[in-house]
Amino acid sequence: MIKTDTHLHTLHSHGKATVEAMFHAARAKGIDIIGFSEHSPRPETHSYPSDYQPRLIEGFPTYVADVKRLRDEFKNEATVLFGLEMDWVEGNETFIADTLKAHDFDYVIGGIHFIDTWGFDYRKEDWQVLSESRQVELYQQFYATMANMARTGLFNIVAHPDIIKIFSVDLFREWAAGDEAKAAFRTALTAIHDAGMAIEISSAGLRKPCKEIYPCPQFIALASEMGIPVSFGSDAHSEASVGYAFDQLEQYARKFGYTDSVYFVKRRMHSRKF
Ligand SMILES: [Zn+2]
Ligand SMILES: [Zn+2]
Repeated sequence: MIKTDTHLHTLHSHGKATVEAMFHAARAKGIDIIGFSEHSPRPETHSYPSDYQPRLIEGFPTYVADVKRLRDEFKNEATVLFGLEMDWVEGNETFIADTLKAHDFDYVIGGIHFIDTWGFDYRKEDWQVLSESRQVELYQQFYATMANMARTGLFNIVAHPDIIKIFSVDLFREWAAGDEAKAAFRTALTAIHDAGMAIEISSAGLRKPCKEIYPCPQFIALASEMGIPVSFGSDAHSEASVGYAFDQLEQYARKFGYTDSVYFVKRRMHSRKF
């Protein structure tokens, strides 16, 4: 059974619940390694049409204090991890490094939600006007940017490793089965491997229009072959989604030979059976 959830959000970004409420929701589901990975500040050049950034920046010190307080208060009952889902915004490496230096995070999840300055996971309409060849180009760009992200050595975990399929899953599925995708996956996974990172198996995709676990079978099969570890994340933004569909994630991971998942304490990897 999976008892580690390393990807939780709170109302400090666009989540619905407090740090404390998310903690208790995790405990109620038998989860005892509870990783908070709130969204990060982002350069002003990168924003969504409707954005949580002003609230996040204002509330960030409270987020930090809340997580640390829970960590101390419940240390005999559960392991609370202080993490961050840092937006990978290419070309802004200094901004990212400075953000990460400001706190003693246990771990940093690298989340790719932007290609150039476009938040591609925001609305389906943006995708509907794109030609198939343009969409395939974006898949390629997504994995090239993932490799660049890994090569910085700033991150521990790759978030939702094929979120790029969110609004075009049929085309993505077709592409993912081909040689071109395999080469793109291999390039990204080689950089991830060399950086000592893990990839996330996420149930968020099941709740999104793609209705699939992140990442796809071809990507995880190659990751497994290359000995890359996995972490489990619900990417919950509400109490109800904490540990979401972890029975499905467990079955899925086992199919590719995984028996252990990882988490990070003070940026050091730890492994645990599930
Ligand atoms: Zn994300
Ligand atoms: Zn997230």
